[in-house]
Amino acid sequence: MQFIDQAEIEVQAGDGGDGIVAFRREKYVPAGGPAGGNGGNGGSVILQAVEHLQTLLDFRYAHRFKAENGERGGPKNMTGGAGSDRLIEVPCGTVVYDVETDEILGDLTTPGQTLYVAKGGKGGLGNKHFLSNRNRAPEHALPGLPGETRLIRLELKLLAEVGIIGLPNAGKSTLISALSAARPKIADYPFTTLVPNLGVVRKPTGDGTVFADIPGLIEGAHLGTGLGHDFLRHIERTRVLLHLIDATSEDPIGAYQTIQAELQAYGRGLADRPQILALNKIDAVTPGMQDLEAIATELEELSQTTVFKISAVARIGLDSLLQTVWQCLEEAKELEESEVDEMVLEPEKLGAGG
Ligand code: GDP
Ligand code: MG
Repeated sequence: MQFIDQAEIEVQAGDGGDGIVAFRREKYVPAGGPAGGNGGNGGSVILQAVEHLQTLLDFRYAHRFKAENGERGGPKNMTGGAGSDRLIEVPCGTVVYDVETDEILGDLTTPGQTLYVAKGGKGGLGNKHFLSNRNRAPEHALPGLPGETRLIRLELKLLAEVGIIGLPNAGKSTLISALSAARPKIADYPFTTLVPNLGVVRKPTGDGTVFADIPGLIEGAHLGTGLGHDFLRHIERTRVLLHLIDATSEDPIGAYQTIQAELQAYGRGLADRPQILALNKIDAVTPGMQDLEAIATELEELSQTTVFKISAVARIGLDSLLQTVWQCLEEAKELEESEVDEMVLEPEKLGAGG
């Protein structure tokens, strides 16, 4: 199963500046030689892989990227200024296609790696260049060449960082829709009605994080019944689980326990994954029918974590829920990094001891 984010953009390199025709005019020199300068080269459009982006979200709104044109040549053999390149940052893992030919132009895997996607046009030669013994006063110059223009497609395999779990009908899909800034597509997925629902949710820092609503987490999923297993494999790779419980359901506590038992039964550390609990549909809770506070308190005691009260439909409580998700993700990342550090440090420690 692969989640793929895609964006199509037009990249246009700068045109080369024109060469010009000019002659020296100096005091006491009646007919000066040719002195028309060359045009400057146009800037190129260059993609660069960076670590701080994880999605193609920024390309939803920006579709055209243009580098600067080169300047015309000047008199007195002055070469025109070169146009500045346009650098476009993309996440590591971005594969770049030419839309017209469907050819792969490059695969940006390592931070800092660059790829020219549109080369700037060369500046035209000024008439100075055409000076020869046969032609002491050339009167022509060349125009700059146009910069390349290309339609490219960026593709990025996505990893969902946040998995939304909960019984069917808890509101997982609705929550994703309410939070999403974009909907990536799902590739390589066999025909099924149980397709995970994905959304890229924009972070306060600008970039996005992928949330995956994982259906099929029903009793027995750990036994490989239906498609549950496949989905569970995907949530194995998420960093944080967001557990949604329908506050209006008959037995919210039982719903929580069912899912916990599923995670436990599945093993592989899923039950130990940081989990954020939210009681959904609080807009529909009818006093007298359900006691929201009592349910929340019981869940908090059971889970030993804060329980958020939200409504995906009425968009209540979503901001503070998201804040906690970001915080939790940061902590999970720091933990992973410190674990990597420890692995790197250990051999040194051993070396110093022996
Ligand atoms: P999923 O099976 O967990 O993906 O649940 P869905 O997102 O499909 O939602 C199931 C039903 O609950 C749908 O009819 C939704 O409209 C409804 N629903 C989801 N969130 C809320 C909510 O916050 N308030 C109310 N009143 N209904 C909701
Ligand atoms: Mg759903």
